[in-house]
Amino acid sequence: MAASRIVFLMYHELELTGRKLCQSEPGYLRYILPLEPFRSQMAWLKQFGWRGLSVSEALRYPSDASACITFDDGCETDLIAAAPVLREFGFNATFYLTAGFLGTPGYLNASQARDLDGQGFEIGCHSMTHSYLSDLSEPELEREVVDAKHNIEEIVGHPIEHFSCPGGRYDQRTLQMARQAGFATVANSQFYANSPTTNPYELGRVAMLRELTLEQFSATCQGHGLWKKRLQYQARRSVQRALGNHAYDHLRAIWLGEPRQ
Ligand SMILES: [Zn+2]
Repeated sequence: MAASRIVFLMYHELELTGRKLCQSEPGYLRYILPLEPFRSQMAWLKQFGWRGLSVSEALRYPSDASACITFDDGCETDLIAAAPVLREFGFNATFYLTAGFLGTPGYLNASQARDLDGQGFEIGCHSMTHSYLSDLSEPELEREVVDAKHNIEEIVGHPIEHFSCPGGRYDQRTLQMARQAGFATVANSQFYANSPTTNPYELGRVAMLRELTLEQFSATCQGHGLWKKRLQYQARRSVQRALGNHAYDHLRAIWLGEPRQ
């Protein structure tokens, strides 16, 4: 019997003692887990008999309790921190790389991306420059979706099938472009579990926030309370739409106490 639904978890860079993060503003830090809480979450899954799956594996909806594990941005900690923990517990995951960040400080370089791929983890694409895709012209969008796919494929030497949207922003043009480019799925950052009837171009994912307790983590994996987060997300998104992404980010920076830019 196939699972009725699977929660897709969305991680970012992991924090290691003594190591500088790729970015430092509070809006970024919110999404960064130190290594230990991440390890505890994986240990919780293992302890209770859950499987940790890549996107391709999750889309087969196996009957055992499963979580889909994804990482955005392509930080170096994917390889040096997340991968060893995942391997320790026998879990797979999908790492969505930002093509244009490869080889820049704090991010994976091409040979590290190949290493991650060679270890059996799944590599996906997270755009070229991490721009909000819904703000872009057609040629810009093509570069973010199509050229980024080709860049990463050239590095790993095989097709890349999965795309995730920077900042969760996308529109119908984005999805159409991704489909035409040959992506089989697009993941966003909306709070819903996916099921065999979910549109593969609108896979929901739940952001793993720094403040998440282990209890909240276990509830999330079981899909509890996602509707509440979804309502909050929709409220936030309607403010974003009304203000535009740029003005929204400016306001958010003020709320979170970031320096004005
Ligand atoms: Zn991102």
